[in-house]
Amino acid sequence: MRSVVPFEAGHAGMKQWLGGKGANLAEMTKVGLPVPPGFTITTEVCRAYYAAGGQLPKGLMDEVAQALKQLESAKGQRFGDPQNPLLVSVRSGSVTSMPGMMDTILNLGMNDETVRGLAALTGNPRFAYDCYRRLIQMFGNVVFDLESYHFEGLLHRLKQQTGAEYDSQVSAEGWMRLIEEYKAVVLKETGRPFPQKVEEQLELAVEAVFRSWNNARAKVYRKVHHIPDEQGTAVNIQSMVFGNMGSDCGTGVVFTRNPSTGEKSLYGEYLMNAQGEDVVAGVRTPVPIAELKNDMPEVFDQLLSTAEALELHYKDMQDIEFTVERGKLYLLQTRDGKRTAQAAVKIAVDLVHERILERGEAIERIEPFHLDQLLHRAIDTDKPLDVLAVGLPASPGAATGAAVFDADTAESWAREGRKVILIRTETTPEDIHGVLAAEGVLTSRGGMTSHAAVVARGMGKPCVCGCESIRIEDRIFSVEVDGKLRIVREGDDISIDGASGRVILGGVSLREPVITAELQQLLGWADSIRKLQIYTNADTPDDAAKARSFGAEGIGLCRTEHMFMSAERVPVVQEMILAETEEERSKALAQLLPMQQEDFAGIFKAMSGLPVTIRLLDPPLHEFLPNLEQLIVQQERLRYQPDADPAELEQLDKLLRKVRALHEMNPMLGTRGCRLGLVLPEIYEMQVEAVFRAALSCLNEQVEARPDIMIPLVGHANELKRMRELVERKAEEVLGDAARTFRYRIGTMIEVPRAAVTAAQIAAHADFFSFGTNDLTQMTFGYSRDDAEGKFLTHYVESNLLPDNPFQVLDRDGVGRLIEWAVEQGKSVKPQLKTSICGEHGGDKQSIFFCHAVGLDYVSCSPYRVPLARIAAAQAQL
Ligand code: ADP
Ligand code: MG
Ligand code: MG
Repeated sequence: MRSVVPFEAGHAGMKQWLGGKGANLAEMTKVGLPVPPGFTITTEVCRAYYAAGGQLPKGLMDEVAQALKQLESAKGQRFGDPQNPLLVSVRSGSVTSMPGMMDTILNLGMNDETVRGLAALTGNPRFAYDCYRRLIQMFGNVVFDLESYHFEGLLHRLKQQTGAEYDSQVSAEGWMRLIEEYKAVVLKETGRPFPQKVEEQLELAVEAVFRSWNNARAKVYRKVHHIPDEQGTAVNIQSMVFGNMGSDCGTGVVFTRNPSTGEKSLYGEYLMNAQGEDVVAGVRTPVPIAELKNDMPEVFDQLLSTAEALELHYKDMQDIEFTVERGKLYLLQTRDGKRTAQAAVKIAVDLVHERILERGEAIERIEPFHLDQLLHRAIDTDKPLDVLAVGLPASPGAATGAAVFDADTAESWAREGRKVILIRTETTPEDIHGVLAAEGVLTSRGGMTSHAAVVARGMGKPCVCGCESIRIEDRIFSVEVDGKLRIVREGDDISIDGASGRVILGGVSLREPVITAELQQLLGWADSIRKLQIYTNADTPDDAAKARSFGAEGIGLCRTEHMFMSAERVPVVQEMILAETEEERSKALAQLLPMQQEDFAGIFKAMSGLPVTIRLLDPPLHEFLPNLEQLIVQQERLRYQPDADPAELEQLDKLLRKVRALHEMNPMLGTRGCRLGLVLPEIYEMQVEAVFRAALSCLNEQVEARPDIMIPLVGHANELKRMRELVERKAEEVLGDAARTFRYRIGTMIEVPRAAVTAAQIAAHADFFSFGTNDLTQMTFGYSRDDAEGKFLTHYVESNLLPDNPFQVLDRDGVGRLIEWAVEQGKSVKPQLKTSICGEHGGDKQSIFFCHAVGLDYVSCSPYRVPLARIAAAQAQL
């Protein structure tokens, strides 16, 4: 493979080498679309550059010079020629699209001489000097790492002094003055002059684009989107076309369908007399594409038909960059457009109806975790809203949180558990960690295709942008509403609605989402494809009903401790724990029994006919008691109060003794799960009794209850054997004659590594295994989750010690091997053994793929993740 590939020699299948942008520019060239000629330096060169410790490979620039020669003869211009200069853009282009994360330089080849040539040649000095000042700024930014403010400040001052409101009103003389100031900035800040040699410009630019692969924001983006660091970027060198030559010129971005709703109509924005970066960077707020029909009817028609052709060619919605130079349309980029989940679903289903895609292909187009976004919250209140402003509805969903004005604050507040809304004039890609941390994003400038909007949609965050009526200053924004000035300070609660663009003062309550007809259809197709069943984790009848409406086929994990935690029950639970005699304990348990029975009956009803897996009490008992340190403080206080009530003191002493007795150094490894059930069987007996009583009462009401009793934290077969005896004894007691015909199962969680290793022995006493991957991950890694996440684990993932957080993405090599082994061993003893996982991993795509591959019967995930798990399970099958 050569290091440099001209556009006419490549095609869309070469993404791996040419990057997405380069491969698509080649493909468009191949099918005869108007693409300015150019060539691509491959991603392999980028890898070689890094392998050599940041050195361009020898001979590369010679190859580039060769390719440049061809470009020169194609254009009839010469690079660096003072009379008739060739200008190029140097554009990054990774394999997986990372919008705006890396760098691009336009107008390369301008210097003090060529600028004069270009001015004379075009008879348009204003335009020529505009190009030059842009080059110095972009070059300064990208190559020399100079912050934009160095340049923006000078530009602002120039406009003020000359009374220009827009860049397009600045004269040639104005730009000349600015260019001298810009050159002075470069010299002062870097100690070297802006390079006049065009070959030097080119080499430095190529290197800078390679470097930009490893800038901070690109790294964050790759982490979030699981893009491998080794992929590298290509560099595209392309002859320039100019949208800033005058009033018959312009530049814009269009989507072939609406990226917010999926509706089939051309959607986008453009700016007359401007260069590309102006639109995407949100420098000016652009005009809706429909208006191009009036400005340039022929170009509009051509754009429309090109858009349709491209969509058909790629069989997907496209995001297209174009520039119009003196009335002629040029295409500068096309890619599969980023879209909201709602749009993704609608487009996939529509493409099937339009006979462009097969059903399976449509399902493969959906990024399951993205569907989280579809199942969006909306504002839910009858009260009038205090609407401060309305911006562009850039990414749907409503969000409420504290106002913050910079990404770092957003991140640190979010880490403390506060919900925040990130507010920026415009977001630059450097803000990505803040966007990630925020509930939603609000900007005062930039259009629907600005970076803020694109990034927020990709992450499924609500976003309102281009909200021009708000004025953002230092940690504050102000807005005039009905002639009154309103102010929002950092920390004030605000809400945004990304579907309508509204910005609202104060918090609002949010309504849960519903499933659209298109999603319903897509899910139906997924169901007919997939083998893996999808269960849900649900502890209440409400959650169970919600999950069932989302398509859950059973409950894979019903945690009974949550039933112990409600405010009115805690005192009874505490009484039970504090009991000194059997009698006291059974009294408290007798009080709990009907409560539990009612809980179970409610869940059985919600899940009538479907299996409900009930896990007996799991956490250590001290979790239901007050905190030890607080009690000591309280006791000390009381003791030194002269009028303290001795009875109260005695009560406190007793409580303290018990809390001390139950105190554990490492509660995760202490008296919990079946260990509790074996030491204090009364609690489990009560729970089992409640389950079967509830089942019996359902039976009498013609509701089909199907309980599966799940024993947690088993590590040795004997533990399960004992527990099984307990459950069977209780079942017989409660069910009587019905015991023989009533269907129920007894199984265990596999969450202690020893259980996985000895699965064959354990299977002898189990009807099912459910892999509790949270605990299994904790114990296999030896990480206590609470001490790991947000602490050393963050460091581990950031520094690539681990590929992913193993609590989010199942660790195949370690935890996964245990699961595979246990399934194989278990089934060798009991072929009918039912196997599944519960835990956070049940809703993660990669983990679902794993579960499918290992041959589990079902995964269990939170109710909101059920739809996306159905899609992922179908994808695993395809
Ligand atoms: P990004 O990946 O940030 O979109 P691009 O490489 O696509 O960066 O370029 C940024 C902007 O510059 C885009 O609007 C693009 O259309 C414009 N641009 C790039 N190359 C050229 C060119 N040869 N002529 C005119 N405009 C260009
Ligand atoms: Mg860019
Ligand atoms: Mg682009």
